[in-house]
Amino acid sequence: MRFEFATANRILFRQGALKEAAPIAASFGRRALIVVGSTPDHVTPLIEQLRAQGVTAVTFSVSAEPSIETVQAGMQVARRNDCDVIIGLGGGSAIDTGKAIAALSANPGDPLDYLEVIGRGQPLQHTPLPYIAIPTTAGTGSEVTRNAVLASPEHHVKVSLRSPLMLPRVALVDPELTYSLPPSITASTGLDALTQLIEPYTCNAPNPLVDAICREGMQRAARSLKRAYQAGGDVAAREDMSIAALFGGLALANARLGAVHGFAGPLGGLFPAPHGMICARLLPFVVEANIHALQRREPRSPLLQRYAEVAQLLTGRSTAGASDAIEWLHQLCADLNVAPLSQFGLTTQDIPAVVAQAQQASSMKGNPLALTTEELSEILQAAVTSFV
Ligand code: NAD
Repeated sequence: MRFEFATANRILFRQGALKEAAPIAASFGRRALIVVGSTPDHVTPLIEQLRAQGVTAVTFSVSAEPSIETVQAGMQVARRNDCDVIIGLGGGSAIDTGKAIAALSANPGDPLDYLEVIGRGQPLQHTPLPYIAIPTTAGTGSEVTRNAVLASPEHHVKVSLRSPLMLPRVALVDPELTYSLPPSITASTGLDALTQLIEPYTCNAPNPLVDAICREGMQRAARSLKRAYQAGGDVAAREDMSIAALFGGLALANARLGAVHGFAGPLGGLFPAPHGMICARLLPFVVEANIHALQRREPRSPLLQRYAEVAQLLTGRSTAGASDAIEWLHQLCADLNVAPLSQFGLTTQDIPAVVAQAQQASSMKGNPLALTTEELSEILQAAVTSFV
């Protein structure tokens, strides 16, 4: 048994934890850049709290999932204002942007020097600026991951800037910040979190510490995602989902993912589809394909037992078998009104090209078994057209 586990220097989780941000920032620097999403509800009080701590702040707004140019624009703001601490306050888009700004501001050269796949993939040499990550969605877990996902419109793909140095200095998780999420974003980001718990648990390189985290996270998401969707003000359900998302981030940063994320990179680069909605639509079909392929080709694989455990955690029934997970996930997606990927312009004609790109994705290599081109095409076909 060999495994490793790394995370943010400090994780602070509680209702109202946002109030801790200003004193923590003041311990790192005097001039903050706050990277915010397109619904920056909590920024004004944060700026005032920072000022009370002797920290001046400028903001940089991120209106969509970030590209390399988004990060370059943010770096200019940080440089112009001589910022010495970065705060990301928003969904994964703002968190990833802030993380990349913190990393690249401390390392010379061009983002392409460091980016995976489309760039030169050089390791970062210098410790990033101190970074405080404060999520306002319960989905990506980016507050505890070591990568930032950036789109390159020129290459039609989303790729990661990745380094162990990029783990945030502080992850400050305040479930109150998620109360304002509308049902559709609660659903898609919540299903992203659930995917990030199921894929590391069933990947081909499991890690016992990650397993324990995934079990706890899956139970919480299973009991609370539908509730948070139906009743956004349910404090216990929101808290469960913030924990599930945090645990998904801990899991993905320390184990591997699978075919859902293998598809998500190329799809997010080729189509204007939010990451959470891609994961949400693909999850039940990928789990279904993996279980059926294991049953056909590797019937004695311990991974089938893992899927049975997933089914038990999701359904709450100790007698559930692997196939019950498929049914449960399809029903959840139906209850959460998850729409087909055709709504983002993906058609049957696009399937061969997307499958070819997905087969090269690093996440695909963590899938429990290698799926054939035909199996991958069937997953996409179902996700393009199916409502349930
Ligand atoms: P997002 O940050 O794009 O936010 C989705 C929408 O929700 C936006 O319109 C945003 O303004 C809005 N929103 C955010 N918080 C809100 C709130 N509290 N109330 C109301 N509206 C709110 O979505 P996301 O799913 O959190 O992040 C997606 C990005 O994260 C993608 O770029 C994806 O590739 C990346 N990602 C990164 C990692 C990682 O480990 N770095 C992991 C998974 C995904």
